[in-house]
Amino acid sequence: MTEFNEPKAFPKPAVMKNVSDPVPNAAVIVAHPDDEALWCGGLILTHPYYSWFIVALCRKSDPDRSTKFFRALQLYGARGAIADMDDGPDQNPLLQRELQQEVLELLPAVTYDLVLTHAPDGEYTRHRRHEEVSLAVTSLWSAGAISAHELRLFAYQDNGQLLPQAIKEAHQYTLLPEKIWLEKQRLITDIYGFGPDSWEACITPKAEAFWRFQSPIDLQRWMRKKSPN
Ligand SMILES: [Zn+2]
Repeated sequence: MTEFNEPKAFPKPAVMKNVSDPVPNAAVIVAHPDDEALWCGGLILTHPYYSWFIVALCRKSDPDRSTKFFRALQLYGARGAIADMDDGPDQNPLLQRELQQEVLELLPAVTYDLVLTHAPDGEYTRHRRHEEVSLAVTSLWSAGAISAHELRLFAYQDNGQLLPQAIKEAHQYTLLPEKIWLEKQRLITDIYGFGPDSWEACITPKAEAFWRFQSPIDLQRWMRKKSPN
C-alpha cells in the first residue's frame, strides 16, 4: 500500500530532562499536513520530551496526505488531528466562524505552554489558507478560547523570490544543527513523499524563526506596528 520504504524512527537528540519537571504542552495548528514539518519541524525534533499535539485543517479526505500526516506524527511522537476544510484549486475564502469552530473541535481544551501557527501574511507569497488559519488561531487566543502561555507565529519572508527564508530579526532565530535539518528533509521526502527536486525539498528551511508573544496585548501591539493602517 505504501510506495516508499518504511522509515525508521528518528533518533532522539540527547536532551537532558529532569524527571520531576512537568512535561510542557505544545500545539501546532497549521493549514496543511507538511506545514508543521516545513516551518517548525526542527523545533519539534529538538524538543521530543514536549507533549505535542498537531492540528492540520485541510486534507482529511485526501487519503495520501492524511496517511502521511499520521506517519509524520508517529515519528514526532506527537498526537494530532486533521480536518477537511475546503482546499480546492479555487481557494475560496473560508468562513472564519467555521474555521475557528473546527480548530476548537480538534484541539484538546487544555492550557498550553506553547502554541505555534502561521503568520498573518503566510510564509511565502501569501497563501490564503495559511493566512486564514493564522487569523483563526490569533483570534481564538486573543479571545481566551485557546489557553496558552505563549503564542509563536512562523517568521519567514521570501523577498518575492518564492524561497522562504527565516527572518533573522524575528524574536527567535535558530539555525538548525545539520543532523536535525537532515531529519527534517527526510520528513519532507520520505514521509511526505516530495521528490528531492521538489519546491518543498529545496526550500526546507535550514533556520527556523518565530514571532513570540506572551499576551494578546503584545500581539496586538506587534500587529499594529506591522500594519499601521
Ligand atoms: Zn500549507
